[in-house]
Amino acid sequence: MLTATFPPILTRIHRAQASSSLASDHIRLVAASKGQGLSQVEAAIAAGITAFGENRVQEAEHKWPALKAAHPAIRLHLIGPLQTNKVADAVALFDVIETVDRPKLALALSEALMRQAKHPTLYIQVNTGEESQKSGIAPKEADDFIRYCRDTLHLPIRGVMCVPPVDFPTAPHFALLRAIALRNGLEECSMGMSEDFETAIRMGATEIRLGRILFGERA
Ligand SMILES: *Cc1c(COP(=O)(O)O)cnc(C)c1O
Repeated sequence: MLTATFPPILTRIHRAQASSSLASDHIRLVAASKGQGLSQVEAAIAAGITAFGENRVQEAEHKWPALKAAHPAIRLHLIGPLQTNKVADAVALFDVIETVDRPKLALALSEALMRQAKHPTLYIQVNTGEESQKSGIAPKEADDFIRYCRDTLHLPIRGVMCVPPVDFPTAPHFALLRAIALRNGLEECSMGMSEDFETAIRMGATEIRLGRILFGERA
């Protein structure tokens, strides 16, 4: 399992990095650990993975407080949709919240950040495929929304994130996300999953989120 899958993935990351002038010097690998039990996560930590992504606040609250206490260097990312009634819990637990995607959520985050001493880094999720079932701000609204979050609410926005449509080429979505990051001066670009992380790296991802390729298919 992980001890077998991880080294070849690192090789593929380095090759993709070396093959493109757009590639970032530093690529953060976030292990998407939704549905994985403690033994799988421990194996990933033992293999050297230092960042993890969870989709649901409730699942993360069961899994992560003990793991974080045992491994203080781990950075925990929220990569799934965030409901406003879970904002305080998310701020308390996560180091990075990647799915800021609407004004109501941004406002709730700004209030939670004023009340708590913890200040997670925030990314804006962009719905690059404009899919109605997916979260994320529409691409044409992204610039205004980023300005609102940063300038009006003073939120610590550091990057953008996307989950492109399945079964279509992802490169145009990665290019769109990268352009939004660049023109807004945001340094982090979280894009690329098991099927397309090399494409994402060649298009300038600073962070990739890998689940199945690391852990195997989810049950
Ligand atoms: C599950 C998930 C991933 C990882 O997907 P894989 O295809 O298993 O690599 C990445 N990002 C998000 C938002 C996810 O929900």
